[in-house]
Amino acid sequence: MFQINENYLQLNESYLFSTIARRVENFSASHPEADIIRLGIGDVTLPLPPSILSAMHSAVDEMGVKETFRGYGPEQGYAFLREKISEIDFRRRGIDISPDEIFVGDGSKSDTGNIGDILGDDNVVGITDPVYPVYLDTNIMRLGKSSQIVLLPCNEENGFLPGIPSHHLDVIYLCYPNNPTGTVMDRKQLKQWVEYALENRSLILFDAAYEAFIRDNDVPRSIYEIEGATACAIEFRSFSKNAGFTGLRCSYTVVPKALKARSVDGDELPIHSLWNRRQSTKFNGTPYIVQKAAEAVYSPQGQQEVGNMVAYYMRNAAIIREGLAEKGWTFFGGENSPYIWLKCPDGMDSWTFFDRLLQECHIVGTPGVGFGSEGEGYFRLTAFNSHEKTAEAVERIKKWEY
Ligand code: PLP
Repeated sequence: MFQINENYLQLNESYLFSTIARRVENFSASHPEADIIRLGIGDVTLPLPPSILSAMHSAVDEMGVKETFRGYGPEQGYAFLREKISEIDFRRRGIDISPDEIFVGDGSKSDTGNIGDILGDDNVVGITDPVYPVYLDTNIMRLGKSSQIVLLPCNEENGFLPGIPSHHLDVIYLCYPNNPTGTVMDRKQLKQWVEYALENRSLILFDAAYEAFIRDNDVPRSIYEIEGATACAIEFRSFSKNAGFTGLRCSYTVVPKALKARSVDGDELPIHSLWNRRQSTKFNGTPYIVQKAAEAVYSPQGQQEVGNMVAYYMRNAAIIREGLAEKGWTFFGGENSPYIWLKCPDGMDSWTFFDRLLQECHIVGTPGVGFGSEGEGYFRLTAFNSHEKTAEAVERIKKWEY
């Protein structure tokens, strides 16, 4: 009989969002009158803005005309989009990333999940705890629950930022602004990681899915703002959270040509050609229509519109922060990120807090322990609901006598 990949049996059951959904459903069934406010999901809620819709409509029309119909596109993405990304996200900010170092994808979940395909199985991989679960799970799928996966604890003592390790790591996943803690690394902190990676000849996998939410000038928007990073980092960006593409699906991965890895024979090889090979073998490109929509994000009108959407969510983050501060609770994030990471009051554990917040305030959030053991005792609220619902949730929390 054929065999399975045993590593899949070592994955934790994906309890988190299904457990949340079940508990909310049960509560709702027994309290049909409760007006439940959801601040748990990491999905956007605002509709796509007009310039993006209009670009997509035109692309749809092109597909219906013989002369402009498109079949398979380049696996790496169309030049029109790669050029815009290179120019607007990088070169205008003084970072030399060329269009052919950019690979358009169908979401950062796939990109961060697939990158392991081109990395050797003997690498020691550092992953923060708590974490966006995709990094951990895809490494377990590949390596099993092995001592090669090293968790880097992020907690109140270190401000939810991983300390530079005293031991050797070959590959390090960093995500800033962070999901779930909402924390950011300033230039100095990120520089320390780049220096560590250059010294140890390690690779940083930098997930910048929330770059658009950065407000503080001291916080780098790209790891390539740090000198030397093109020799040690791959960066992932997504159109999901800044431009509302969670349903459309578009992302990109930057693989600099200067980035080299070692083969078993000790030869140094550019990793760019490996990712190119991986993508052209296993991926047939993001739809033309979607890439045209992504291109519209870079038009002056598109920039204005997506900027307004991000500002809308950041206003919600501010409403939550102000409310929690008034309540006297401890929290992190929400200044350069749509996530607020709060410390459950009175030493409550994450799930007790979840149940009480649901039952007594009719608010849904995400228990921190669902993102890793260091998240126990913490709770994630998101800024992706409407102003009205967010303000109402905060009022309920303020009045709550827990
Ligand atoms: N990276 C992080 C840190 C995320 O939080 C998410 C989505 O929540 C993603 C990547 C995935 O984004 P995408 O919609 O581009 O797959």
